[in-house]
Parts: sequence; structure tokens; C-alpha cells
Amino acid sequence: MEFIDLKTQYQLLRDDINDGIQRVLDHGQYIMGPEVAQLEQKLAAFSGARHCITVSSGTEALVISLMALGIQPGDEVITTPFSFIATAEAIVLLGARPVFVDVERASGNLDPTLIAARIGPRTRAIMPVSLYGQPADMDAINEIARAHGLAVIEDAAQSFGAAYRGLRSCNLSAIGCTSFFPSKPLGCYGDGGAILTSDDELARAMREIRVHGQSRRYRHTRIGVGGRMDTLQCAIVLAKLGAFDGELARRRRAAAVYDRLFAGRVDTLAPAPDRDSAYAQYTVVLPRRAAVQSALALAGIPSAVHYPLPIHLQPAYARFDDAACPVAELLAEQVLSLPMGPYLASADAEKVAHVVLAATAN
Ligand SMILES: *Cc1c(COP(=O)(O)O)cnc(C)c1O
Repeated sequence: MEFIDLKTQYQLLRDDINDGIQRVLDHGQYIMGPEVAQLEQKLAAFSGARHCITVSSGTEALVISLMALGIQPGDEVITTPFSFIATAEAIVLLGARPVFVDVERASGNLDPTLIAARIGPRTRAIMPVSLYGQPADMDAINEIARAHGLAVIEDAAQSFGAAYRGLRSCNLSAIGCTSFFPSKPLGCYGDGGAILTSDDELARAMREIRVHGQSRRYRHTRIGVGGRMDTLQCAIVLAKLGAFDGELARRRRAAAVYDRLFAGRVDTLAPAPDRDSAYAQYTVVLPRRAAVQSALALAGIPSAVHYPLPIHLQPAYARFDDAACPVAELLAEQVLSLPMGPYLASADAEKVAHVVLAATAN
């Protein structure tokens, strides 16, 4: 059993993916070829946002977004400590300060009720993460941001395809950033990412920042980065996009198998009724995690911990550790992600669930 089965997906989409790659090799526009604009148009339509800017990774999407907002050294950005490191890393790379706010026990996402107390004169933005594929409580976060004149960037690296109150992830705030790292819900075969926004000015700034801050060739009106996504990687995402809605439905079916067997027995971080997860991960909370991990390993079933140490406790980030985040610390000790993906067979999900249940019963 694979933790995330990318091989079956390739076998099913092989002709479309190979044809897409071959077309790029034939036309030879490896950088900013026609597939880049095609993908941007389709991703914008999918998410509902007006603009899509593809970039070289999810991390670069966050960095370019913060640059476009004009985040300066000394500014503060409120974010979650319970995420992949890239969320806080992007803030620190700009010389700004990540201000960590604890997460909700029920979702692992930024707790909106704790944000206001951490807003100060240097606060410029809030960067929630839609963890494991489930959108954060974006309406509540947007409301606080509006009251204080702050921007909201959704780190949707794990949640492209998810929904929240009738809208899609990446279109839930001023800016949404996603990643096409191979193991994300919509992945390419290397690094890639995208920024979505309906703000025309921000979109123009981001397009310029993506290519060294140039407004036209060799005319540099801002400080930028080399942040383009390859044409080849765009062609691969284009080929996968046609199957994506079906894959999301399959992920939800696999999750439903786990949900049914775990009901009343294992805490599943299940999505709130007003939202749908893209199920980048299916993650459970286990007071005796180590026992379950070894039982799974013994049965030859892969599992993973996302993430074993919250960001505010990471050695390089300890200087930003100025408030307690007990829920993030508890979850870091107890979460376990199980095999998940569109091509996880129901029988395999059942097998995993039975090993987890047997190990928790001991
Ligand atoms: C994967 C991920 C990123 C970074 O994306 P890359 O494409 O790997 O740079 C950022 N934030 C979160 C929450 C992620 O899961």
C-alpha cells in the first residue's frame, strides 16, 4: 500500500500527460509557453477568482504574495504554528515577524477567537492555513481583518479543490496560494504553485514580481524574484485537471470509509458541516499514537506525522516564540496521517482502519 498512490494516477492519465509533455517539447517554449496562460485561465475559472499567476512553488507563491502586499522588515503577520515550515518561512524571509496564534482543537486550523488579542500597530496581514485540505474559518478571519485593515492570504497548499460556504479554497480571501508539489491534491512532477486573487492591482504586481520585477523586458520597476513555473509542469497540471473533480469525489469516498469505521471511536478532525476537505491528508488524533504507528508499520502500512514539532518550537523560530500555543503542541504529539488518495481502494482503507482500531483498543 502506498501513502499517496501517484503511480495509478499516471497509468490512468498516461496518454494525456505524455501528449501534453510532447507538445511542449515540440513547440520548444520551455519558459512562459502557451500552456502557462492556458493553465492560469483554467485554474482561475475552477477557483472562481479573477486572476491566477502560476509560480515556481507554493513557497514562492507565499513570498510573492507578501512582496506584492508591500510587507516590510519589522511588520508582523499573524499565522498558525501548526503547519509546514514554509508558511512562517515566507514571512521571515521578508524580514517580517510571524506572530503565532493557536489552532482549534477540532480542525487544527487557526483559531479566529484568539486573533484579535495578538493584533498590534505593526500587524499587516493574517495568513491562515487550510490544513490537511480543510479550509480555515475564513469568514471569521476576513471579518477580523476587515475591522483592522489587514490583508488575508490563505495558504491553500493542501486545499486546492476544497469548498467553504459555497466558494472554493483559494478564492476565500484577498489572496489564495497553492502548491503543485507532487503529493498535493493537484500535483505536477516537480515544483510548481499558483496565486489566485480577484484584485487587479495585486495581480499585476505579482506578475511583475514573478519575473524580476519587470514591467516590460529589461525595465525593472520593483524588486522581484525568478519565480516562474515551467511550461512542462503547467502541461502536466493541465492534463491532470480534467480528472480532478472525479478525483476529489474519490478522495471523499475513501474518507467516508475511514469516517464510518472510526465513528465514535477515533477522533478524525472531520470537516465542519459548512465546508468540504480536499483530503490532502486523512489525519486522526490518537492519545497513544506511538502504539498505533508501530502496529501500522508491522502490518506494512505507511503513515506520517504532519507535523511533529510546531513552528514556534523549531530551533530557527524560537525567537518568535512569545505566546503559548498549547493546542498546536498537543496535536503535534497526537496526530497521525493515514494512507489517502483518489486511488486508495475501499478494501485498503478498511484494512488500515481495522489496524488502527485494534491498536487503540489495546
Ligand atoms: C506544501 C506546503 C507549502 C509549500 O509548497 P511547496 O510547493 O512545497 O513550496 C506551503 N504551505 C503548506 C501548508 C504546505 O503544505
